[in-house]
Amino acid sequence: MKYIFITGGVVSSLGKGLTAAALGALLEHRGLAVRIQKFDPYLNVDPGTMSPFQHGEVYVLDDGAETDLDLGHYERFTSGELSRSNNLTSGQIYEAVIMKERRGDYLGKTVQVIPHVTDVIKERIYESAKGVEVLITEIGGTIGDIEGLPFIEALRQFWTENGRRQNVLFIHVTLVPYLMAAGELKTKPSQQSVAKLREIGIQPDILICRAEMGLGMEVREKLAMFCNVPVEAVVEERDVETSIYELPLMLQQEKVDDLVVEYLGLNAPPKPMDAWIDVVRRLRFPAEEVTVAVVGKYIELQDAYKSVYESLTHAGIANDAHVHVKRIDAEDLETEHGKQVLWKMDGIVVPGGFGDRGTEGKIFAAQYARENGIPYFGLCLGMQIGVIEFSRHVAGLHRANSLEFDENTPHPVIHLMEDQKDVTQKGASMRLGAYTCQLVQGSKSHSAYGLDTVRERHRHRYEFNNAYRDLLEERGFKIAGINPRRNLVEIMEIESHPWFVGVQFHPEFKSKPFQAHPLFASFVEAALRVKKAAV
Ligand code: GLN
Repeated sequence: MKYIFITGGVVSSLGKGLTAAALGALLEHRGLAVRIQKFDPYLNVDPGTMSPFQHGEVYVLDDGAETDLDLGHYERFTSGELSRSNNLTSGQIYEAVIMKERRGDYLGKTVQVIPHVTDVIKERIYESAKGVEVLITEIGGTIGDIEGLPFIEALRQFWTENGRRQNVLFIHVTLVPYLMAAGELKTKPSQQSVAKLREIGIQPDILICRAEMGLGMEVREKLAMFCNVPVEAVVEERDVETSIYELPLMLQQEKVDDLVVEYLGLNAPPKPMDAWIDVVRRLRFPAEEVTVAVVGKYIELQDAYKSVYESLTHAGIANDAHVHVKRIDAEDLETEHGKQVLWKMDGIVVPGGFGDRGTEGKIFAAQYARENGIPYFGLCLGMQIGVIEFSRHVAGLHRANSLEFDENTPHPVIHLMEDQKDVTQKGASMRLGAYTCQLVQGSKSHSAYGLDTVRERHRHRYEFNNAYRDLLEERGFKIAGINPRRNLVEIMEIESHPWFVGVQFHPEFKSKPFQAHPLFASFVEAALRVKKAAV
């Protein structure tokens, strides 16, 4: 069993998660069974209760775990599916340790960071390694953070226990900034962050240097000398040009996978990267283009709808088209002037969300899409918005709403799920994870999937109110997917519309660059079709 630990130096936001994912892709491509996981040193048990401003998207797994968005990169870049045990936080560790202490499991001992906390971390590494040949673990945060120390210490112990270099490899991702005034790349921050690692007793094997320009031999040699690594282990990682899916090819050019395979003594010969080359070619030279609006509350944040943006890119790859994404603030659609931005859109996506801010703008977006035959894709909250809009403007239930936004609505077309009524705790208490959805013959969703049943991931408390089913169906509202066990509406469509689909689940968590999610692919295909028909 081989282990790779990825740490970060100097600053956050270096793209460590993407680097881990791209390395995983390269190793998997060479025939190795790989899993990637993340350790997050914060005290929250999981990111499920954190604000999008703090954390970006919450990525949901099949087993219902609410995890860091880097797990989304891991699943998109590699074939493995992840589980709850692949995102460990300090909150989880302390929760476990304190529960053990209260039970008396420590038999009167003083409970300490070393060894009790570090033991939990090491146990988790062994547990996650089951069934694969290489386990890549990304450590969140930056070397030098106080809260990250127990993790780094656990890795040092693990390193010693498992044979340095032959079985355990440390990769340090660092920043090599360009100083305009000096006119050169500066190596000192990286030297200091490696020194911080060595203080704890860890010597990195490979340095991955994020830089805005080529490192050049001189800088590479300097970094090699001061950071105590061979010069070939100083790897340059520039910003990608068009897409994050270029990263595996970029790292391969720098021979990172060769180095890892050599250092760990793995038998995994290189293979041509044709599939990745094809993805990059399609992204760089698309045959067509469409413009799709994403109408949300957190459009200024890079990460709040990460998986939605990625899924649209995948759908573009599948259709050989470039999908321009226009991020629209839902609240802007609540003003007359703001509404005009929708004119130029070939498709509209309303992603998931909570709380009533911006909902009227989203309802307008759905109405505009319905009335003008523009493809509409509603994801979770976006489906609920589609239901409210149809109820108000087609079925004549003028004050129809979700109970989430208006507790006194006379027509609660979206209401709280039965099992949510007594829930008071906020953490991990929604309907979470993969559930079965039975597709209705003849629906757009059925033909997009080409399957009778699918399993998709959920994260919600509210649902379609079945009391309104007959009334809406009489007006051309189509229920295209049902959870058979609980009779919950999972997919809605509008019969007479070119492509109006709302899903109560999150298809964006199951899309990959080589395998666009069927609904996203079908949505972009419809947008292309409608666009062509219009000219
Ligand atoms: N707020 C809605 C609910 O809880 C939608 C949730 C979501 O979009 N993830 O049902």
